[in-house]
Amino acid sequence: MPDVPEPPPASPPALPSVSGFMDQALAEARAAARNGEVPVGAVIVKAGKVISTGANRTLTDRDPTAHAEIVAIRAAARVLASERLIDCDLYVTLEPCAMCAGALSHARIRRLYYAAPDPKGGAVDNGPRFFASPACHHAPEVYGGIAEGDAARLLVEFFRDRR
Ligand SMILES: [Zn+2]
Repeated sequence: MPDVPEPPPASPPALPSVSGFMDQALAEARAAARNGEVPVGAVIVKAGKVISTGANRTLTDRDPTAHAEIVAIRAAARVLASERLIDCDLYVTLEPCAMCAGALSHARIRRLYYAAPDPKGGAVDNGPRFFASPACHHAPEVYGGIAEGDAARLLVEFFRDRR
């Protein structure tokens, strides 16, 4: 029998880590800051790939709903041609507000990873804790405090520079 060389083991592409996706959300936040927007960024990941990104653009668009999460959710829904973002995970640099927590629920986001907690405006682990309320019909798994220091620093620097 001839020696058949073993095929090389199929190596799946290395999945970027949670912190890698949060780094991309942080890059979006920095881009928002360069536009004079409050620096919050988000990415949506499905099957290990970023399918959409969002940066806060409320001033740019004169749109009070244009938070990073909403921008990313709208873009992902267009990419998937679906109003339900099944098996999608959202990474955002700041704890979502009540509006965004509601939108994540409606979008059926599977997992939420956020960086800095927001004691004043957050609605996940602070304030109304929307996902635990009876008005919430789909709650994602929540992982807070990912790269919290970087995200918090970005916000502190942004507001300090504006004074
Ligand atoms: Zn929001």
